[in-house]
Amino acid sequence: MMSVKVNIVEDIKEVLAFYGALGIEGLPINSEKRIVGKKEASERSPRATFRQKEAGLTKLREEIGNCTKCKLFQKRTNVVFGEGNPHASLMFIGEAPGREEDLQARPFVGEAGMLLTRLIEKMGFTREDVYIANVLKCRPPMNRDPEADEIGQCREYVEKQIEIISPAVIMTLGRISAQTLIGNTKLRMTAIRGKHFDYKGIPLIPTFHPAYLLRNPRDKWLTWDDAQKVIEKLKSGG
Ligand code: URA
Repeated sequence: MMSVKVNIVEDIKEVLAFYGALGIEGLPINSEKRIVGKKEASERSPRATFRQKEAGLTKLREEIGNCTKCKLFQKRTNVVFGEGNPHASLMFIGEAPGREEDLQARPFVGEAGMLLTRLIEKMGFTREDVYIANVLKCRPPMNRDPEADEIGQCREYVEKQIEIISPAVIMTLGRISAQTLIGNTKLRMTAIRGKHFDYKGIPLIPTFHPAYLLRNPRDKWLTWDDAQKVIEKLKSGG
C-alpha cells in the first residue's frame, strides 16, 4: 500500500517537473475550479428559516405599499398580496384577484377559492400549509384578463415571493400564471397542464384555473390528475 502511495507521489512530482520545464508555474484550470468552489460555498446562504422568510415577505409587502405602477390601482379596493405558510413546500399561483378577493384583501376566497381550498385539502394539506398568491396583486375591472403591461409591472412581486418562499413545487392555476412564469405567452392550457416545467430550478406543474373548473366541472378529474403529479414531485423531494 505504502509503495503505491510513494509511486503516485513520485509520478506527480515527475509530471509537475515536466510542466515546470515547460515554464508552467501553476495549474490554472484546477486552481480556478477550487477558487470557484470555495466562493460558491462561502456565498451560498444557508436555507432561510421560517422567521427569515416571514420577515422577507413582510418587507416585500411594505415595499409594494399602495402600488401605483399600473392603471389597476385606480379601481382596486385592496392590494391582494397573498397568504399562507412562508416556509411552504407547495405554492399555488393564480391570475389576479376577483371581486371577493379585492374586498377582503385575500387570494382565492370567492367561489373559485372554495374549489381551490377543496383541492388543497384533497391533496392532504390545509390552506395554512401552502402559500397562495397571484401574478397580479390588483383586480382587473370586471374580472377581465390581465393586460401585458399590467403583468410586466407586477410580475416582479410574485417572482420575489417565490424567491423568498423557495417552495419545492409550484402549481400554477390557469393560463396566465403558467404563461407568465414559464415565459411563453403562446402556450395553450390543454397542451401544458400536468406537464413538468422548470421555474428557476423549481419544478412547476400547471393546471386549470378553478374558475374554469366551475364552468367545466367534467374537467375536474384532469386537475386531480395534475395534483397527483404535484404530490409525487413533493414526495420525491421536489
Ligand atoms: N382568481 C384568481 O386567479 N385569483 C384569485 O385570487 C381569485 C380568483
